[in-house]
Amino acid sequence: VFFAGRVGEPRIFPEEIRMRISTFVLKVASRCNLNCEYCYVYNRADTQWKRQPKFMSIEVAERTGRVIRDYCDRRAITNVNVQFHGGEPLMLGTQKLGALIDAVRGGMGDSAVAVSSALQTNGLLLTDDVLKMLHGKGVGLYVSCDGPASASDDFRIDHQDRPVSAKLHDKLELLARSPYRDIFQGFLCVINPYSDPAEVFRYLSGFEPKAVDFLLPLENHDTPDFGQTRTLYGRWLTQCFNAWVSSSIKVRSRIFERIVHAQIVGHKAALDTASDGLVIECDGSFEADDTLKTTYDGASALGLDVFRHSVEEVLVSPTLQVLSAEAEPPETCRNCDYFHSCGGGHLTHRYAVANRFDNPSVYCEQNKQLIDHVTHTLIQLEQSQNQKETAVV
Ligand code: SF4
Repeated sequence: VFFAGRVGEPRIFPEEIRMRISTFVLKVASRCNLNCEYCYVYNRADTQWKRQPKFMSIEVAERTGRVIRDYCDRRAITNVNVQFHGGEPLMLGTQKLGALIDAVRGGMGDSAVAVSSALQTNGLLLTDDVLKMLHGKGVGLYVSCDGPASASDDFRIDHQDRPVSAKLHDKLELLARSPYRDIFQGFLCVINPYSDPAEVFRYLSGFEPKAVDFLLPLENHDTPDFGQTRTLYGRWLTQCFNAWVSSSIKVRSRIFERIVHAQIVGHKAALDTASDGLVIECDGSFEADDTLKTTYDGASALGLDVFRHSVEEVLVSPTLQVLSAEAEPPETCRNCDYFHSCGGGHLTHRYAVANRFDNPSVYCEQNKQLIDHVTHTLIQLEQSQNQKETAVV
């Protein structure tokens, strides 16, 4: 799912994705063993999780598999990506989680559709047994980690307000030593703007992830910015880019790759880390991009479910169509010199109660700062390459 959102596409299921959606995000647990301060599920506007069953049932998982298969058959889709998310999916326990994964695939029957899968976890419940089970079922692993204690402990806490970085570090060491470590795909890292970006990058890349997704917190124009913290993210991202570009360990990173891609290849980019997958909640209800939960209560709810509706019905539902229309970047962004590389930023970053998504990103200046820095760095790299080539000639 790190690379599911393709460069240059607007958010919330643009037309070509509505026609052929191929990523499905299954919320198999609606509760979490952590209580991260910035969490968009539990600590922002939305309260829908309280009405969800704690875990997805086998019945919902099977039905979801059937609905995905039927959709793929009708649309002649040959590859799908199924993501297992929460809450914290490992709270299910190894056996129940394995049974749910099997139930989804069982629901797909003898379909010829090729299924790739991955699980997103906070990592604290990782064990040898879980790793073995996921490996056996060919499920990739993504771990949420904001870096070492100095970067993580202020925000990444449990329900007793205790930081968890030390415990997670032990789990990451377990993963690094595991014979099943090849399932490990990468990290999701929410940026702590007071941390040292080089130290965070060094820490994460030391575990040899294939990718690290650096995420700006899902704030919007109505969330308070105590101490003008937002101004710090531009500096953080530029310094992290320096660490990324000069590192001997090659790690994919979507936010940087999108700008580089826009600058070098010329494709229009969107600094948008939202997934273009269709979300299925624990009770089988369909949801739009669940990061919308940071904006207002019920923002991602569609009122449709796997027992009564097909994927096609979801994709043409009035609520999703309104969201899709609102996801179009505002005029200010479309007329902006940075639009080619920024795309207006993440949809949730544009929200305000007064005029919903008709705003530039709340991180507009920080996006510009990063784009300027990447552009400048690329020019310098090109100049130094040209000088080397001239010297050789
Ligand atoms: S968010 Fe800001 S930088 Fe990005 S396109 Fe809109 S106005 Fe330009």
